[in-house]
Amino acid sequence: MSTIEQRHHDLLASLQAAAGRQGQRLPRLLAVSKFQPVAAIAALRDAGQRAFGENYVQEAMAKQRELADRDIEWHLIGHLQTNKAREAARHFDWVQSVDRQRLVDALTRERPADLPPLNVLVQVNVDDETSKSGCRIDEAEALCSAIATHPNLRLRGLMAIPAPHPDLEVRRTAFRRMRALFDQLKVAHPGMDTLSLGMSDDAELAIAEGSTMVRIGTALFGQRENRSHSDH
Ligand SMILES: *Cc1c(COP(=O)(O)O)cnc(C)c1O
Repeated sequence: MSTIEQRHHDLLASLQAAAGRQGQRLPRLLAVSKFQPVAAIAALRDAGQRAFGENYVQEAMAKQRELADRDIEWHLIGHLQTNKAREAARHFDWVQSVDRQRLVDALTRERPADLPPLNVLVQVNVDDETSKSGCRIDEAEALCSAIATHPNLRLRGLMAIPAPHPDLEVRRTAFRRMRALFDQLKVAHPGMDTLSLGMSDDAELAIAEGSTMVRIGTALFGQRENRSHSDH
């Protein structure tokens, strides 16, 4: 097995073990491939990984062209500018970073009729950080209701990136706030099945608190090339 196949295998085993220890179900693994080469994505796809997350629309589209012959589920997880909604609505299966009404309007307008509904997560700024994208906790309900009125959008749940506090117990409280919000919103939206929480350094904690999808980059691919992007 090559290194990346081995890491994928080991990561799935460790997620499985964490879920087992915590009495939780195994979450879905989203492989976060921003700044990673196409060859690594292809190798992971051949190892059975189907869902990949990208942060930048242009970078993702270039990779999609090269990987057009593979069956990949593409998730947009980075901040989405309204003027990129048209391309996002055409080239992704999921958008996890929906955080405002204008974006809901743009995505429903731009999702082509010949594609299945776009899977959508509402991104919540769970720690109320001024610099971060994501809606406030008290705005999530209205956004979910708005998404649910559009037949070409499918409300799947919530996503958050808690502040990277060194004390994991502080992060745990953020995960708990998200789980509580998720359970509360599910009453009105029983189709919600996805709580996207946890990255390379806190996936196990997120699983303990009920994450159903972890987004893992470095623990799977290794360090990213640290380059800046025109697509920001
Ligand atoms: C980059 C990124 C990740 C993956 O982070 P790692 O620490 O490399 O696992 C997950 N979620 C989002 C939104 C990201 O931007």
